[in-house]
Amino acid sequence: MSHQHLGDFGDFSVTVVVTSPPWYENCYIVRHRPSGALAVVDPGGDAQRILDAVAAEAGTPEMVLLTHGHPDHLGAARAIETALKIPTLAHIDESPVIAAASDLNRAFAGEPIAGPGDLQPFKGEPALNLGPATIRVHATPGHTPGGVCYDFGAFVLTGDTLFKNGLGRTDLPGGSEQQLWASITRVLERLPDDAMLFSGHGPGWPAREARRWWQMVS
Ligand SMILES: [Zn+2]
Ligand SMILES: [Zn+2]
Repeated sequence: MSHQHLGDFGDFSVTVVVTSPPWYENCYIVRHRPSGALAVVDPGGDAQRILDAVAAEAGTPEMVLLTHGHPDHLGAARAIETALKIPTLAHIDESPVIAAASDLNRAFAGEPIAGPGDLQPFKGEPALNLGPATIRVHATPGHTPGGVCYDFGAFVLTGDTLFKNGLGRTDLPGGSEQQLWASITRVLERLPDDAMLFSGHGPGWPAREARRWWQMVS
């Protein structure tokens, strides 16, 4: 399957494109249903499949969002930016990771990648606009220094900070286990029970379940 509609959550619909092996990274296409505004989150690869999924939404693409700068999350960013004429937004603390993504990809996969060409970094935890809707940013350093979660109210995109029954690795440059644990504790405290969490790899789960699991393991 080239893409899968995960459902409607609040005012948004969420579609996922799972990229090819070995990363199987979740690229999410979020559509604000009332306005048709679209965000493409973590386009890790398979640009054409992502563009096909965007075209199927028949909305207005506004931006690429990066939860963080690892190559499996931004490998198709340049192609998506160029095809849709939209910028890429990421946390400013992630800039060194984004700059190093091509080298990291060469180390893992043997080839360089084109990083984002129109990078618009943001600071802190801003409220971002998707059409008339607001996306809340939670800064969640630990997996990487400028990793964030994007909070759409009824669901949250957690990148590689938090997976279903798992947390991100901290052994890559800029990673910090201590920071990651603090970030997960902090973000889970902020979320309502019913919010769905969709991560960078694997399935989603509700915040209620994530909190219960985190209390057991932390
Ligand atoms: Zn990562
Ligand atoms: Zn990843």
